[in-house]
Amino acid sequence: MKVLVINAGSSSLKYQLIDMATEQAIAKGGCERIGLEGSFLKHKANGKEVTITSPMPDHKAAIELTLAALVDENHGAIKSMDEIDAVGHRIVHSGGAYDCSVLIDDEVMDVCASNIEFAPLHQPANIMGVNACKAIMPNVPMVATFDNAFHATMPEKAFIFALPYEYYTDYKIRRYGFHGTSHRFVSGEAAKYLGVNPENGFKVITCHLGNGSSIAAVKNGKCVDTSMSFTPLGGVPMGTRCGDIDPAILEYLAGKLNVGISELITICNKKSGVSGVSGVSSDFRDLSSAASEGNHRAALALEIFGYSCKKYVGSYAAAMGGVDCIVFTAGIGEHDAYVRHMVASELEYMGVVIDEEKNAHPTSGICDITGEGSRVKVLIIPTNEELVIARDTAELAKSVK
Ligand code: ADP
Repeated sequence: MKVLVINAGSSSLKYQLIDMATEQAIAKGGCERIGLEGSFLKHKANGKEVTITSPMPDHKAAIELTLAALVDENHGAIKSMDEIDAVGHRIVHSGGAYDCSVLIDDEVMDVCASNIEFAPLHQPANIMGVNACKAIMPNVPMVATFDNAFHATMPEKAFIFALPYEYYTDYKIRRYGFHGTSHRFVSGEAAKYLGVNPENGFKVITCHLGNGSSIAAVKNGKCVDTSMSFTPLGGVPMGTRCGDIDPAILEYLAGKLNVGISELITICNKKSGVSGVSGVSSDFRDLSSAASEGNHRAALALEIFGYSCKKYVGSYAAAMGGVDCIVFTAGIGEHDAYVRHMVASELEYMGVVIDEEKNAHPTSGICDITGEGSRVKVLIIPTNEELVIARDTAELAKSVK
């Protein structure tokens, strides 16, 4: 079975064609600048990479070009479109409506549409991606994998804010969480790697640290809490996002800067985080080199990030009554040894010891960096959200065949 996984952004569309027999991508690529001048597609298959420049006025044109690349006799991966058995779509927001992936029907499309206001930048593009695929492949089963479905199992005490309760019932203001597909994948892989049944009380804290970062507490294979909240702005500080701050700062700053709420939120989203603190960059590689050259603010930004993540790890261990495993994933989690050191060192009182040598020089793939005498396993696990979407899609598509 071959599954096409689509991740549509506002002006981009990433794809992978996954052969479920091997769970390997046999082709992958992305369309960029959809709807803009100079749009192009980068496509990789059979060890070859090609860049195809072509006008893409909309997502339908992007999907058409993607399918043409997949069946191309020189750089394609399949002979005909009929070889695509199902399509899995990454969708950002279900508004808490689903705790698992679902076959796309009119009702699912209504749920997607009714949650646009919670993810105004991404959700309309996700919907366009689905509609474009449906128009070109009307008889192929389509599946939606929602970014926050994994977090739908959080208990009320974790997802209701201490605001007037009516704001939850009337306006759906609550913690939703994001990166759920990644947290689900790496927590599941951790259980598999350690040979434990996750439903047997396994407690894992997953640190998805990338451009956007979030941390989740997963008990018995289910998410019980996560750091991002109503939007992806909450939680730990990120590349350019501030994470949790005292909301009263916004009113105070509005007076000082003489700006309105939407400009303040833009500052919180785009000009804050480690970039705002350091004044150097949002990229941790730049921060590390600036810090090693003596840049105090770059060093401080890294420390703030590590300290904040560490506090979440401690609080989630408290929330779950302990922890069996800590997982690091995504760009920073997989590659930045200093951040992992800041988060997981000096936690001996919780039974966490990391092997500094293994942490500094991890092997590729899943890497165990647990130190001697540690009661808690510490793992680096490369995330693979596309594979989760493909697995769910294959499973659901079988039920309609
Ligand atoms: P996205 O949220 O865009 O998927 P990623 O998970 O790919 O982000 O993470 C991207 C970030 O990871 C970069 O901005 C950078 O800060 C960090 N990163 C990537 N590679 C390295 C590295 N080798 N060392 C340190 N940080 C890295």
